[in-house]
Amino acid sequence: MNKILFKNVLAYFSDLSSKRISFYIDQSGKVNFLDSYDISSFEEVVEGEDLVIMPLLTDVHTHIRVPGQEEKEDIVSGSKAAARGGFGQIFTMPNTNPVVDNAYLVDYLISNINKNSVIKIYPVGAVSKNQLGEELSPLLEMKKSGAIAFSDDGKPISTNILRKALIYSKTFDGIIIDHPEDIVLSGNGVIHEGKISRAYGINSIPYTSEEVCVARDIALTRETRSRLHLAHLSTRHSLKYIEAAKEEGLNITSEVTVNHLIFNCENIPIFDTRFKVKPPFRDEEDMNELFIALKKGLIDVVCTDHAPHTLEEKELDYSEAPFGTPGLETAFAALYTYFVMKNKCNLEDIIKWMVVNPSKIFSLPVLELKNRSRANFFIFKKGKEFLVSPEMFFSKCKLSVFLNKTLYGFPLATFYNGNLVYKDKNFMKSVKQEI
Ligand SMILES: [Zn+2]
Repeated sequence: MNKILFKNVLAYFSDLSSKRISFYIDQSGKVNFLDSYDISSFEEVVEGEDLVIMPLLTDVHTHIRVPGQEEKEDIVSGSKAAARGGFGQIFTMPNTNPVVDNAYLVDYLISNINKNSVIKIYPVGAVSKNQLGEELSPLLEMKKSGAIAFSDDGKPISTNILRKALIYSKTFDGIIIDHPEDIVLSGNGVIHEGKISRAYGINSIPYTSEEVCVARDIALTRETRSRLHLAHLSTRHSLKYIEAAKEEGLNITSEVTVNHLIFNCENIPIFDTRFKVKPPFRDEEDMNELFIALKKGLIDVVCTDHAPHTLEEKELDYSEAPFGTPGLETAFAALYTYFVMKNKCNLEDIIKWMVVNPSKIFSLPVLELKNRSRANFFIFKKGKEFLVSPEMFFSKCKLSVFLNKTLYGFPLATFYNGNLVYKDKNFMKSVKQEI
């Protein structure tokens, strides 16, 4: 890469400090902080006035669809989408075809990732064989192969298997991630049960579908004294259980998706399949309470639940189209636009929710700007607006819930392990992106 001076850029760090800093990245991809510099020795100077450098984000919940559903997403497209969104490490869920429920498939996935990914992707192994909820998968073997955690995501873990998994995973410090849903209560529901579902007579999913499963999960975590992470909370009714569990000292953590902090069943277009997600977008009060819980530290992590599908699938009738929407590329920009710019939270909060807490919970490295270390950061420009369009996405799924909306804070460049893994075409014009 050309020698580029990043001049007086505002950098944020994982200890929640920030400072203006000048540096360049050398041939080996290492960052060199500078106290003084001679501009003439650089091929390009990036003026830092409105530029902000952030640690790389972590997403503990994505669906990269490998193996078997590469028409929806693959390692190349999924990892480039992550880089475009400012992520340096992401988890991919095992509800693939075949299900990632053994060490052989974890090995296969990791060798595919090592060959094709521009960032770090950690496989999550299935808790039960073929995610059928009947037989426990070989969790320890999968962990030895590199599975970061275990989940039957897409579905809840069946009660008996969850209990066994919690007991077993405790012996090797494994982490179980549950998708809290009572599938009997959800039935064939497609949206939140409330005003809209009643007005239009649409099959619906009551909030209790999540609440009863959260209560069950906490009871089993209490009994086993193990560790559990609850995926994508959607209703305020789950929060009182989590508050009590945390007060009790149980090792329960949880996440909320970016989209569930922004959308509710009344501020989205009805019958638009981009907004068909599970759990469904619930009431405005739920949405607001989730954000308050996040601010209070009751919810630990913000994730995307990036769940790409093909255009053909998403063009089906609302009742037929699959649940799930992409989110890796818009997550940070959406949080920045809807919350930071409206003074509802600050960048340090986002660093807590998407860098510090995921790293603590899952024992991951923190990837950030560090002198004499390989470059790990993304950079965005304050005040720079983007009209969201399908062409800007690397994900195979272009059906963003933010299409045609104006968002700020999109990354202009992302460095992972010293490599430039994403660059906006108008940023650092002297540099050709290697990847
Ligand atoms: Zn899920």
